[in-house]
Amino acid sequence: MSVLRLAIPSPLRRHFDYLPPADMTSEQVAALQPGTRLRVPFGRRELTGYLLGTCDDSDAPLDSLKPALAVLDSAPLLDERLLALCRWAAGYYHHPIGEVFSHLFPKRLREGQPLMETGTPAWQLGPRGAGLPMDNPLPRSPRQSQAITLLRQGGTMATSALTEAGISSAVLRQLRDKELIEACTVAPATSRPHAHPGLALNEEQAQAVQALQGASGAFSCHLLEGVTGSGKTEVYLQLIAHTLEQGQQALVLIPEIGLTPQTLRRFEERFDANIAVLHSGLGDSQRCRAWQDAQSGRADIVIGTRSAVFTPLPRPGLIIVDEEHDSSYKQQDGFRYSARDIAIKRAQLSDCPVLLGSATPSLESLHNASLDRYQLHQLQQRAGSAQMPDIQVIDVRRQALSAGMSQQMLQAVQDTLARGEQALLFLNRRGFAPTLQCHDCGWIAECRACDARLTVHRRQRHLRCHHCGWQRALPAACENCNSTALATSGLGTEQAEGVLAQHFPQWPIHRVDSDSMKGRDAMDALVSQINRGQPCILLGTQMLTKGHHFPNVSLVAVIDADAMLFSADFRGEERMAQLLTQVAGRAGRAERAGTVIVQTHYPDHPVLCDTVQQGYARQARALLESRRAAHMPPAGHLVMLRTDCADAAVGEDFLYTLRNQAEPGLAAGATLIGPLPAPMQRRAGKFRCQLLLQAPDRARAQAAAAQLVAIAEQLPARSGLKWTIDIDPLDLF
Ligand code: ADP
Ligand code: ZN
Ligand code: ZN
Repeated sequence: MSVLRLAIPSPLRRHFDYLPPADMTSEQVAALQPGTRLRVPFGRRELTGYLLGTCDDSDAPLDSLKPALAVLDSAPLLDERLLALCRWAAGYYHHPIGEVFSHLFPKRLREGQPLMETGTPAWQLGPRGAGLPMDNPLPRSPRQSQAITLLRQGGTMATSALTEAGISSAVLRQLRDKELIEACTVAPATSRPHAHPGLALNEEQAQAVQALQGASGAFSCHLLEGVTGSGKTEVYLQLIAHTLEQGQQALVLIPEIGLTPQTLRRFEERFDANIAVLHSGLGDSQRCRAWQDAQSGRADIVIGTRSAVFTPLPRPGLIIVDEEHDSSYKQQDGFRYSARDIAIKRAQLSDCPVLLGSATPSLESLHNASLDRYQLHQLQQRAGSAQMPDIQVIDVRRQALSAGMSQQMLQAVQDTLARGEQALLFLNRRGFAPTLQCHDCGWIAECRACDARLTVHRRQRHLRCHHCGWQRALPAACENCNSTALATSGLGTEQAEGVLAQHFPQWPIHRVDSDSMKGRDAMDALVSQINRGQPCILLGTQMLTKGHHFPNVSLVAVIDADAMLFSADFRGEERMAQLLTQVAGRAGRAERAGTVIVQTHYPDHPVLCDTVQQGYARQARALLESRRAAHMPPAGHLVMLRTDCADAAVGEDFLYTLRNQAEPGLAAGATLIGPLPAPMQRRAGKFRCQLLLQAPDRARAQAAAAQLVAIAEQLPARSGLKWTIDIDPLDLF
């Protein structure tokens, strides 16, 4: 008796056994391959399950097993290597394997729908149409007659070819309704992908390209540490050209925001090739098509954000993770994986090289490079004629400020615009102001569901919580004392925009934040407009800093560096140095030399000074030493268990019980810290509590994580309590 072992999307960390569908012969069952989708009954629902394998016996009594309802694919959609990756990811992140599988598939396929038709729409004669007389088949309709004759001569014809021959879609519909012709598809014309010639590489670029080309066909991991504007993308393009020449596919991961259109254009200009793009802004069917193009091997290059790391590829030859330090690679809820780390595992399972690129590599990657796990390639010069910008720190203490901006900074903006150049001002806070306060009694407007202040959005006349999205109308009076002396404090982009408009009425100001840039096209349109080169002011949050190339920006100003300087998180300093370096890197990327101005009340702050004076590369290595001394990642390993519960005590109790049961069996050297309330304890109405596991190495962290999960699953379920595990958490919030 064959038993089908399936992964089913369910919170349970196990597989599920089914009998084969009743109408299948044993030969058919024996031919089923792992990675095939099946429809199965699950409780009172029907779900899509994924075949892990067939076996002869089950842990459950055979007569308790239900038969699967149907096999959905004639061939498995995932190959052995990708299945192995899923199994590894489910194990490493201690996440239910069925949910890992369903994360991998586009929505339509997850819902059990068949593969989409991806060919070009076309028509062919049906049996009745083929039976019509050769001569003048439909005497009363010359157009229809002509269509039948064309199809008889041409066999299957693309709809576009029929249109060109003068056959309208109305005629085709009429023939279809008479059941004379049938809609079908033809495979799109495939041609060998081709790359246009690249730039002549400089010495450093050439070395990196050579090293990676020499490494093709086997696993190796490379870190490309190149200052902003050093030509990392050119290195990627030339490596991809090589991959395509070998007849293989390249997978390129990019961070979440805004980057897609610009990056995509550079790829399209360089390659005559099928490029599949996968990001969260796509509709279901677009996404599914792109996925199938990758899966079938039609796509030569796959570019995508985080979840694209799981895209099936029959011929993987190279994986690139651009801006590898970017926190958007880590999924922050549900299946909390790191796409960068998965990319490395995937390259290993695919016997291909993986390249991580960044101007500001994560300390994790620098650590691995220092241990020779990764080969390090450095690009220390800007490519072409561009120069590194000069960074000036402005001490704003005791200075008169206008919406947080000093006279010196405003003058620099003025001079830049007057020279016909562009200025980019960075302020990492959207809205008008982060706080609304009563001047008479001190009351502060707070979110009703979170431990957080409400941000003032003056133009929309409301207060909004940036953590849970709750909003309310701007109050006219204090809710505590009824005074109308309400005042805002702090500065957001909306306010800065207004003040800049008063100072610089003759120049356009473009605000770039998630409020003003709704939809992917908005960013794309703005980037093209800016790159026309007219003088303007760009004011924005970190949305503006990610990888964009603005050749005419010659001044970058950080309006409020202080907001970045004090973070409770152990990665705070690393983040700050990365952000500052990335922002500064937007200046002077073409012929114009750039200037960077950083405003602060703490001009002697060590992290700020190190970034400015030493540069990220040296600073990061020093930060790495202090992490090692503190046994924190990447030197030590962390696992976080979190509870979410409307009742604070229930979550805390759960973690105490977990801790007490786990502690006696904990691996030597591993320690549990907590339970402690999360730094923002209440969010969206739920109290959050956390238990942190610290271990000296990955093996012990994994063993302890497995133990914690096993215990947590045995603890009695408490209503309203949700617990999650986060392996290698990015931040401790
Ligand atoms: P990064 O990805 O490191 O930020 P890019 O690849 O975007 O850098 O390169 C920055 C600029 O330098 C681009 O305009 C690019 O065309 C140019 N560039 C890159 N490599 C070279 C080269 N070898 N010679 C001349 N210009 C180059
Ligand atoms: Zn008051
Ligand atoms: Zn809130």
